[in-house]
Amino acid sequence: MKSTVMIVEDEASLVTMLRYNLEKEGYVVTEAGDGEEALMIADEIRPDAVLLDWMLPRISGIEVCRQLRRKSETRNVPIIMLTARTEEADKIRGLNIGADDYITKPFSMPELMARLSALLRRAKPREAKGALSFADIVMDLATHRVSRATKQIHLGPTEFRLLQFFMERPGTVFSREELLNGVWGQDIYVEPRTVDVHIRRLRKALNETGGIDVIRTVRASGYSIDATTQSDQQDAAE
Ligand code: CA
Repeated sequence: MKSTVMIVEDEASLVTMLRYNLEKEGYVVTEAGDGEEALMIADEIRPDAVLLDWMLPRISGIEVCRQLRRKSETRNVPIIMLTARTEEADKIRGLNIGADDYITKPFSMPELMARLSALLRRAKPREAKGALSFADIVMDLATHRVSRATKQIHLGPTEFRLLQFFMERPGTVFSREELLNGVWGQDIYVEPRTVDVHIRRLRKALNETGGIDVIRTVRASGYSIDATTQSDQQDAAE
């Protein structure tokens, strides 16, 4: 599987050059022209690595790096900072905010490519978290594939995270608030009703294969994934 690299850079000519070289190496490339866009795209597509410019309009590269590190979904994504500054203090600061590596502009493309592939090699074992299973549902965390009774299930990114959250803690009942914090992250404001919408989608996707409903709705409390619904008599979960 090809790795996706997100370029966060406002200098168009550099973006073009980076894209050209990355695609030549077989990477899938996605671009963000400023920090805000970078955070949005990172959330949506979950890049395998980020090339992050230091000086960006609106939100600085440093702040983008901090925010990526704060969210559970992007906490481990390898980040290389691209910086025009050479002062040692800046470099150290760059590493303290959670960047994995940095490279000073102007840089040589072969060097950047070498560092990137080294970072990705190191990151892969962390990514390959193996699989989670619950009843007849299997989640492959490395490939993001979900199957039920060997039938493939297609989930959106939020439903995937939601299911992972449940499957890591089977039987535990979570309130909407707890799910919001655990799945969406504390920094993001989402209406509690959003949880219901995604639970509905997740439930529908899981049930499409004909299996019984494993998402339990606990009135006035929240939701859980529950094995007790695995009996012959299907629990009439809503
Ligand atoms: Ca810049």
